[in-house]
Amino acid sequence: MSNMRNLTINAERLWDELMETGAIGGTPKGGICRLTLTDLDREVRDWFKQRAEALGCTVTVDDMGVMFARRPGQRDDLPPIAMGSHLDTQPTGGKFDGVLGVLAALEALRTLVEAGYETYAPIEVVNWTNEEGSRFAPALIASGVFAGVFERDWAWTQKDRAGMAFGAALDTIGYLGAERCGAHPLSAFFELHIEQGPLLEAESREVGIVTGVQGVRWFEVTVRGQEAHTGATPMNLRKNALLGAARLIERIDAIALAHAPLAVGTVGLVEVRPNSRNVVPGEVFFTIDFRHPDTDVLDAMEQAFGKALPEICDQLGLTASADKIWENPPVQFDPDCVAAVRKAATASGFSHRDIVSGAAHDAAYVSRVAPSAMVFVPCLGGISHNEAEFSSKEQCAAGAQVLLQAVLDYDRLLAERG
Ligand SMILES: [Zn+2]
Repeated sequence: MSNMRNLTINAERLWDELMETGAIGGTPKGGICRLTLTDLDREVRDWFKQRAEALGCTVTVDDMGVMFARRPGQRDDLPPIAMGSHLDTQPTGGKFDGVLGVLAALEALRTLVEAGYETYAPIEVVNWTNEEGSRFAPALIASGVFAGVFERDWAWTQKDRAGMAFGAALDTIGYLGAERCGAHPLSAFFELHIEQGPLLEAESREVGIVTGVQGVRWFEVTVRGQEAHTGATPMNLRKNALLGAARLIERIDAIALAHAPLAVGTVGLVEVRPNSRNVVPGEVFFTIDFRHPDTDVLDAMEQAFGKALPEICDQLGLTASADKIWENPPVQFDPDCVAAVRKAATASGFSHRDIVSGAAHDAAYVSRVAPSAMVFVPCLGGISHNEAEFSSKEQCAAGAQVLLQAVLDYDRLLAERG
């Protein structure tokens, strides 16, 4: 058996496979259009299955189309340590979002096979179905069913714009598996992903140790005043809903800034009624998107807005209502898994920093049912969901190396615990 410190992934091979699979749904601008459960998705799934089987893995598929490529361990009765991400993309997606996490996991597993390294627990590479949510809503649907957040039967009935149901699409491409989604215990799950933000690049760090995923709260607000003639209505007699909305938007910015640097607050959609140049606005609808890694801070932000709403509206003779329409709690990844990633980055000699993910990921749902953590690598300009998305060969390789070392570190932890 070789020493785990000698195990090094093959950067060229990983890069070649990123480029090879990038041609499946490849776009003229260098991106990928590979929507979930299409013929192109089937093609990349077939490719993945064939490569995994060539490494001696057994590939199983569950009834949400999630693929598990398994390499046995010494203790084959233990749930596997899994690593992976997703092979589907946005319609104008890049070559790295999701794909890197699956192919790096495959490369890590191949490194173990070639070294003849026998792990304590079985190791699996996972491809989660429909992470992107572009063809079928919601996003992260398979990891959501896996974690018990969504019902499988409900997921199967979700339709694309052409009216095709998710379950039927799964069957059509031949990836409706027999195993019940979620009936597949994992000892742990590790996901490598591009950052999709600018922090690692800005600080010239090679690796991000992802400690969690921030929580999200969405609100819809309606401010009501009175429509009136702009020429004939004196300023002191107006009930201008847009003025109220403007002051509220400024307050939302201040609320987020009060919890800097981690809090963000955004009003991204505003509708003014009647939206006419010579009518004092009678009604304004707008949305709020608050995000922070801690529930306590999200509570404080929500309360601050709840206080500002009547305060600002009363002064202007307006009424208002606000509804919380969606809430996704923050995720703190498992301390042992995070420690394994940090140790792996340090041992591999990569510069790193802790980071909280701004975007949702399959690992966030999986963390509800198995200890999980993530590894981030930088992407050019922090750009993703874009054909111009780019991470270099070296950056991809650094992520794959940390992924491998983290899995081996966690495997050793399991062995120590017996
Ligand atoms: Zn992704």
